[in-house]
Amino acid sequence: MLFAHDTEIALAAATALVNTAADGEERLPDPPALAAFLDAWGFTGSRVGDAAELAAVHRLRTVLAGIWDADEDGVVAVVNRLLRDGSALPQLVRHDGWGYHVHATEPTASVADRMGVEAAMAVADVVRAGALDRLRRCSARGCDDALVDLTRNASRRFCDSTCANREHVAAYRARRATG
Ligand SMILES: [Zn+2]
Ligand SMILES: [Zn+2]
Repeated sequence: MLFAHDTEIALAAATALVNTAADGEERLPDPPALAAFLDAWGFTGSRVGDAAELAAVHRLRTVLAGIWDADEDGVVAVVNRLLRDGSALPQLVRHDGWGYHVHATEPTASVADRMGVEAAMAVADVVRAGALDRLRRCSARGCDDALVDLTRNASRRFCDSTCANREHVAAYRARRATG
């Protein structure tokens, strides 16, 4: 494992959030879609379920997407702003069968603040480890999705198995055509 368990989950969740707006398609179009996303990623804490909450998450998503395209100083600026705006106060907690992990916001903070601070805490770990190259874009042709490479040997190139399979088939055809 490269990072602490909660850091790796937070990085995967942030990546998934960024990719809900990939290739111009809106995958969080309404509050129920956001609720399903939060459930899928195990987000605890209070929710309102209204349009304003969704809009704040959409704004956060745009900010987080910038992390994948910024240099280190740019990433640090985003992380520090999210921690400051979210009034982050790291505390070790355990609940629901999870061992001790860090929460840096109150359960009553807004959904966007909790998601933003959680992502910022995780990216702060990545910066401290000098591992920002682990946050990359998919190498498949025609796909620009964000990915987080948590493999030991930094070998991940594609956002998902669909892209990986497509590229392997394309490479095979190219070899046959030239061979
Ligand atoms: Zn927790
Ligand atoms: Zn892809």
